[in-house]
Amino acid sequence: MEIRKKISFQFIAIVAFILIISLLAIYISFSKYRQDEFYERLSNKARAVGQLLIEIDEIDSDLLKKIEKNNPTSLANEKIIIYNEVNHIIFCSEEKNQFHFQNDIIAQVKKEGEIKFRQQSYEIVGILYASEREKVVIFIAATDIYGFRKMKNLRIIMIIVFCISLIVVYFAGRFFASRSLKPIVKVINQVDKIGITNLNNRVDEGEGRDEITKLAKTFNKMLERLEDAFKMQKNFIANASHELRTPLTVITGQLDVVLMSDRSDEEYRNAISSALDEISNLNQLSNKLLMLAQASSDFSGMNYSKIRIDDVIWQARQDVLKGNKNFIINLDFDNNLDSEEKLTIVGNEILIRAAINNLIDNGCKYSHDNKVNVTISSIDSEIIIKFFDNGIGIKKEDISLIFEPFYRAKNATSTKGHGIGLSLVQKIIFLHNGKISVNSVPDKGSEFIITLPLYSPR
Ligand code: ADP
Repeated sequence: MEIRKKISFQFIAIVAFILIISLLAIYISFSKYRQDEFYERLSNKARAVGQLLIEIDEIDSDLLKKIEKNNPTSLANEKIIIYNEVNHIIFCSEEKNQFHFQNDIIAQVKKEGEIKFRQQSYEIVGILYASEREKVVIFIAATDIYGFRKMKNLRIIMIIVFCISLIVVYFAGRFFASRSLKPIVKVINQVDKIGITNLNNRVDEGEGRDEITKLAKTFNKMLERLEDAFKMQKNFIANASHELRTPLTVITGQLDVVLMSDRSDEEYRNAISSALDEISNLNQLSNKLLMLAQASSDFSGMNYSKIRIDDVIWQARQDVLKGNKNFIINLDFDNNLDSEEKLTIVGNEILIRAAINNLIDNGCKYSHDNKVNVTISSIDSEIIIKFFDNGIGIKKEDISLIFEPFYRAKNATSTKGHGIGLSLVQKIIFLHNGKISVNSVPDKGSEFIITLPLYSPR
C-alpha cells in the first residue's frame, strides 16, 4: 500500500476514534440530563398532585381527575395512581387502570421515600407523600416524547457530523500526505535517472533541515562512495591490464628481434633468459592479483587455522632469499616470546606469509645495503612485527598513498615493482583484525609495523 494511502487511513482511524469517544460522551451525558430532568418534572408533579388531593379538603378524586384532564401542563401519556396507607388505590387518572403496582414496589417507596424506574416507554416516579392527616404513595408515569425526539435528532446530527468529518479528514489526509511526500517522490524520480553512465549526478538536497534533506544528503554521500569505488575499479582494471601487457610486449619484442635473423647461441640464451625474467615478473604480478582478489572475497576466512608466526616468518625469509641471494634478512625474536601461546595466531597461512614476504622484500629492495631487520615481540594479546631498513624512505605526502593499488612513489621507480604489494598487505592485515603503520624519513629508512591479535583459546 502506498505510504500516502497508509497515512490517510491512519489519520482517519485516529480521527474516527476521537470522534466516536467525544460523540458518545456528549450523547450519554445528554441522555442522562434528559432523564434526570424528566424525573425531576415527574417528581414535582407528584408532589403537586399530593398537595391538591390531601391538603385541600374541597378537592376529592373526581374533582382532581377533572382538573388533571384539562391541565395544560400535563405530560404526554401522563398517568397518576395514588395508594393509601393500606395499599388501596384512592386515585387513578385512568378509567381503565393499566398500571397496577405490586405491594413490594409500594413498600419500597414507603421505605426509600422516592423511587424512579422505567417500564416500557414510560418513566415512572413513585413518592411517599406524608401530611399530618394521611400518608399516601403517589405514582406518576409519563412518556418523554419531546426528550426522545430531541435524542433522535441528536443521533442523526451526530451520524451526519461523523460521516462528513471522516470524508473531510480523508481528503485532507490525502492532501497533506501528498504534500509532505512530494519531496520524496522528487528524490525517487531523481534517483531513478542515475545509472552507471551518470554516477556523477547528485540528488537535489534543498535547503531544509528535515528528514528528506537528510535522506538526499545520505544518498549523495552513498553516490560519492559508489563513484569513488567505481573509479577505483576502473583505474584498477586499467592499471592491471597495463602491468600485464607491458611484460608481454617486452617478451614479444625481444623474441621478434631474435627471430629476425640467425643469432649466436649466446644471443639466444640471453633472449630466453630475459624473457624468463619477464615471465617470472608476470607470474609474481598475477599471483599478487589473485591473492588480492582472495583477500577481498568473503571466503578468505574459510582457510583459517592456528599458525605459528615464527615459522611463517622463517618461511617468508626463505622465499625472499630464494628470489634474491644478495638480500640480508635479520630476524630478532624478543626474549619474552618464551611460549607457544605468544607466537600463535589464527588466520590464513598463505596470505599471512605473502604479507610478511612482501614487507621483507620491500625492505631489502628499497635499501642500498639490501638489508632488513625484522623484530618480533608481543604485548598483552598481540604480536608486533617491525620491518626496519636503511633505505630510500618515503616522503610524507606519499605515506597515505602507498597502500593504494598500483601507486609507486617517484623515488622508487628505478626499482622493479608493480605497486600492488602494500595494498595486498593492508588487506590481509585488516582481514586478520590487525593494524599496519609506517614511520619513514626520506633517504634515511622506513619502519613498517604490523600488529596481529594472538590466538586465545577462551
Ligand atoms: P612495489 O614495491 O611493487 O612498488 P608495494 O605496494 O610493495 O609495491 O609498494 C608501494 C610503494 O611503496 C613502492 O613503490 C614504494 O614507493 C613504497 N615503499 C614500499 N616499501 C618501501 C620501503 N621499505 N622503503 C621505501 N619505499 C617503500
